[in-house]
Amino acid sequence: MEWTRSETLALAMHRCTQCHGSGLRFSKKGAVAPCNCVLRAIFRICWDRFVRCVTQEKYLSRVSVEPHQGRSRPSTWGRKDEEFIADFCLIARRALDDCEHRLFRYHFILGADWKLCSRRLQIDRGNFFHAVYRIEQKLGRVFRELEPYPLFPLDEYFHGPSRMSPARVPAGAVRLTRPVHLEFPAPVGQTA
Ligand SMILES: [Zn+2]
Repeated sequence: MEWTRSETLALAMHRCTQCHGSGLRFSKKGAVAPCNCVLRAIFRICWDRFVRCVTQEKYLSRVSVEPHQGRSRPSTWGRKDEEFIADFCLIARRALDDCEHRLFRYHFILGADWKLCSRRLQIDRGNFFHAVYRIEQKLGRVFRELEPYPLFPLDEYFHGPSRMSPARVPAGAVRLTRPVHLEFPAPVGQTA
């Protein structure tokens, strides 16, 4: 995916010394890359949603109909909150190494503060916060860049097309056209 300023601007920290609020910076290879402040913002938005999903009362979780594009099944039922909780945990398991994942589990899933984490993981306060930043940046990027269904933006995740729908037709692909005899006649006065 390509990161653009229109996406990063709203997420960037205004006083960031790296991107100065634009959300974009140049990587070592000279390519345009998202700033770490944007990646951390994406992670925190997804984490907030995760906390809301796991702490809400069971009966508040909604079953929703997800429309399909295929012909075999027009729609299916899904529990988006539970799917989101599972995706959030599974993606972190896959993206982080063992040490990072332990800290992720203690701090972000179980809610342990830095004192408890540093005692348990035998790391000092500075290393704890460095690791937290690294995890937030790593996961923020994965949550946004994941193909074909990113976790972020949340709107698209919760209200977007079904995950079971066929792949989207790429731009420029040949589209099926209606047979001529099924075309609507042109309005009066616009015929050739
Ligand atoms: Zn920044």
